[in-house]
Amino acid sequence: MLNPKTIRADFPLYTEHPHIVYLDSSATALKPKAVLDALDGYYRIYSANVFRGLYGLSERATAEYERSRDVVAHFIGAQSSDTVIFTRNATESLNLLAYSLGNRIIQKGKRVVVSMAEHHANFVPWQQIAMKHGAEFVVVPCDSDGKVELHDDASIDKIVTKDTVLVALFWVSNVLGSVNDIAAITKKIKQKNPNTLVVVDAAQAVTTFPVHVTELGCDFLAFSGHKLFGPTGIGVLWGKKELLEDMEPFMYGGDMIERVSVTESTFAQLPHRFEAGTPHIAGAIGLAAAIEYIAGVGVHNAHQHTQKMIKHALTGLARFKHIRILGSSDPTKRVGLVSFVHDRIHPHDLGDILSKDDVCVRAGHHCAMPLHTHEGIAASTRASTSIYTTTDDIERLLAGIKKAEQILL
Ligand code: PMP
Repeated sequence: MLNPKTIRADFPLYTEHPHIVYLDSSATALKPKAVLDALDGYYRIYSANVFRGLYGLSERATAEYERSRDVVAHFIGAQSSDTVIFTRNATESLNLLAYSLGNRIIQKGKRVVVSMAEHHANFVPWQQIAMKHGAEFVVVPCDSDGKVELHDDASIDKIVTKDTVLVALFWVSNVLGSVNDIAAITKKIKQKNPNTLVVVDAAQAVTTFPVHVTELGCDFLAFSGHKLFGPTGIGVLWGKKELLEDMEPFMYGGDMIERVSVTESTFAQLPHRFEAGTPHIAGAIGLAAAIEYIAGVGVHNAHQHTQKMIKHALTGLARFKHIRILGSSDPTKRVGLVSFVHDRIHPHDLGDILSKDDVCVRAGHHCAMPLHTHEGIAASTRASTSIYTTTDDIERLLAGIKKAEQILL
């Protein structure tokens, strides 16, 4: 079992802010020293551009950048590293797909499917491409546990037709904390229509579940480094090789080129054809350090610990008669985050009062407006835990809510 107090020694932010209660790791996780050292090492010791210089510094930078790709490939169970594309974040990964692939396959008469609980990053790109081409955009609701209603043959039969070209789904909801059984859903989708592509938004899943893309059976998977203890500005798009090879570049420019003449251009092989311009070299190196860090902690241990923390939070929140939990109240049916609404206190007021006691939570629609509208609310408060969360943090959250009630009710 993991000890969050020992883990904290790895996170320098706690030295700067010993009293902070950081319950916003779903927005971005804190960074361990190993990641800061990797970033510092690149900028301090071998800062040079990649793929360009024939000198030692650039060769080292290139080797470390490509080693990071190998680390990511191993982390997600990809068969080859060239199927790992570095992007800025999950949002860019999904937009890259929507532009390069979506624009071609999402045409009039075709159907694209998402769930009601998608983050805007996995909702709006598909909606916009569908609108542009006059394709059908189908939004599937979630059940009371927050899982997309695609569990059984009847629902799959209704949603996945011969014209369904793509289904884009969250693995873990950033609002409901619910978990879609991606492997089972993908299997059913492919049984109904082997040509339907399945895109997985794994932004909230990578800290909780071991990722094995071939076992998931999906076609594409996207996530951000910064929620996985890595730096901001680096993300990943993984895709099946034959599908990536068939896609047009998303951006044109340096490093993604094979040959350019005044009459035509040809493009580099995977993965470089999707990485135009100078990439976030330090970011990729920092992400590899983050992955090595979390592998040392153990993804399974992280999941067990955050579930324990959220169970504590759910028990405490249940004592507030004005609070309603979004998604399941059963901790075994969710990951380590909880969103809730207080029927007398606006989330922004609650967030403000909590912040005065150094308790950091997220208040708003969490980039999931369709879900909030569906729930009949404009905003909610979200507390999200991580490997450094203690029961004391949860107690301070609960005490802060009590205080807000004393002040405002
Ligand atoms: N999908 C989910 C489920 C998320 O929680 C987030 C971030 N909140 C994103 C996508 C987008 O991540 P980013 O902002 O890092 O691109």
